[in-house]
Amino acid sequence: MRLTNEIALIGGGNYGFNLSAPLDCHIYLIDGGDELAIVDAGIGGPHGATGEILANIEADGYDLNKVKYLLLTHYHADHAGGSADFKRELGLTVLASPLCAQTLAIGDEDIISLPFAKASGFYPADYVFEPCPAEGAFADGKSINVGRLKITAYETNGHSRGHFSFLVEGSDRRSLISGDLVFFGGTIIAQNIPDCIIQEYAASCQRMATVDFDGSRSSIEAKRQRSPTPWSRRRMPASSRLVSCVLKISCALCGFAAGSLKVRTTWVDRCG
Ligand SMILES: [Zn+2]
Repeated sequence: MRLTNEIALIGGGNYGFNLSAPLDCHIYLIDGGDELAIVDAGIGGPHGATGEILANIEADGYDLNKVKYLLLTHYHADHAGGSADFKRELGLTVLASPLCAQTLAIGDEDIISLPFAKASGFYPADYVFEPCPAEGAFADGKSINVGRLKITAYETNGHSRGHFSFLVEGSDRRSLISGDLVFFGGTIIAQNIPDCIIQEYAASCQRMATVDFDGSRSSIEAKRQRSPTPWSRRRMPASSRLVSCVLKISCALCGFAAGSLKVRTTWVDRCG
């Protein structure tokens, strides 16, 4: 599903558009022309649908031989679990934060809190986080090139440690792929796991609100300054709607939301 000229949605599960396995995160393809990169891998293995994701890439008209990188936002199984599948199928290079790379290399299920997630019933009891070699390539502010596009990594901890968001530049748009930093509707999820830290979450959200990308608060306000139409009467596209952030309190042990709290953060809902 092409989202822009440079970015396509090639996978996603029950929390998205059911393009691949039910537990998959949103999985994106970045098109830099002569090079392509996949962002996040889904859960992979017998419970995943890596073959469907590859078929989606081809159905959108892309050449699998051009896929050079898999970029991981963070190490949770719904984002990194399919890495070994993609490496086997495409021979690509897996790039991640140093912590994510170390964790993935040994398939460390404790670091990613998989036992909690299995106990809650979110993941099948027989799910295995398959190890995969990865390069700990990302540092805050460091960029890589994917063909003609520049991808800059921003460290955005809070949802987990070693979490990065990616700013995609080099075309007429500046797009942000933010992993699990913010979900649809401006929602963030505080989980009862050791590396989900609300202060870091807030700092990451506040920091990314200062980064200029299409759909960001600053870009919307710049458009408002230029617009002759009163902003209150304009119908904003869903991809750039400014929303208040709803904090959902969930428990990884019982798997149910325990409550929610509105916080004074504003964000946009094109991420997640
Ligand atoms: Zn996550």
